[in-house]
Amino acid sequence: MKVLKFGGTSVGSVENMSHVKNIINDGQKKIVVLSAMSGTTNQLVSIAQDIADEKSDEALNKISKLNESYLLTVDSLLQDSTLNHSVKEYVSSVFDFLKGCAKKDFSQALENQIVAQGELLSTYMFNSYLNQEGIASALLPALDFMRIDENKEPNIEFIKENIGAVLKENAGAEIYITQGFICLDDNDEVSNLQRGGSDFTATIIGAAVLAEEVQIWTDISGMHNNDPRYVENTNPISNLSFDEAAELAYFGAKILHPLSIRPAKLADIPVRLKNTMEPAAEGTLI
Ligand code: ASP
Repeated sequence: MKVLKFGGTSVGSVENMSHVKNIINDGQKKIVVLSAMSGTTNQLVSIAQDIADEKSDEALNKISKLNESYLLTVDSLLQDSTLNHSVKEYVSSVFDFLKGCAKKDFSQALENQIVAQGELLSTYMFNSYLNQEGIASALLPALDFMRIDENKEPNIEFIKENIGAVLKENAGAEIYITQGFICLDDNDEVSNLQRGGSDFTATIIGAAVLAEEVQIWTDISGMHNNDPRYVENTNPISNLSFDEAAELAYFGAKILHPLSIRPAKLADIPVRLKNTMEPAAEGTLI
C-alpha cells in the first residue's frame, strides 16, 4: 500500500481538490494524509494568539470570517444536498467549538485543540467530496492511532497496532483519508507534530504499515538543485539519498519537513516528491 500526503495548497481550493481526487482515484488501495487548507493553520495560530493576548473580540472576528469562507467552500464542493447539509453541520460544530475557545483562558492545551481543527475540517470535507463522486473512501481519525511519547517522539508500536485496527475496521474502503499534523500526547491530550508536520505523519504511517512508497505531493516538482524562491532556472533533482534529502530539508528546503526522513530511512521506504499541479513531472525519488 502507498501513503500519499497532500499539502495545504493541494487542498486549498475546490479546483485543487479535484486534481487530488483525479490523482488518487486509480483503483489502488492507499492512505491519503491531508494538511489543512492553505492559510487555515496560520489563521488558527493567530486566533490562539489573540486568546493568549486576551483579545477575544478579535479572535471571534477571525473565527466568523474563517467560518464564512468554509461555508462558501462547502457550497462549491458539495452539490449533493445530503452531504452538503451534513458537512455544514460538521463545519458549524467546529466553529462553535472555536467560538467557545475564544471565551476560555489561554493554555497550551487550548492552542493545540485550536490548531488541530484545520486538518479535521479539510479531511472531513474531502472525504465527503470523494463519497459524492462515488469513490469508496473512509475517514480514519488520526487521533485514534497517532501518538507521541513523553519525548515527543512518535510511539511507533502504539501507532502500528492502532492503525492496523482502524484499517481492519474499514477493510471495505479503497481510499483511506486521514489528518496530517495532529496526534495525541502521552497524556491523551490533543497535540501535534509541529508546523509542517503532515510530512512527518505520512512517513510515520508509511513506516507503521510498511508502505511500498510514501509520496509527498506539493506545488513544486520535486527537490531542486537550488532554492527556487531566490534563484532562477533551478531544476528538480531526480534522485537523492535519505541523508542528502535530510540535509537539504534541515537547511531549509521547504518541500519536506526535516524530521520526516527518519522514519522512512529506518524502515527503508522510498519517498517520492511530486507536484499536484503537474502530476506527470517526474519529481524526486529519495
Ligand atoms: N497544517 C499544518 C501547518 O500548516 C501542518 C502541515 O501543513 O503540514 O503547519
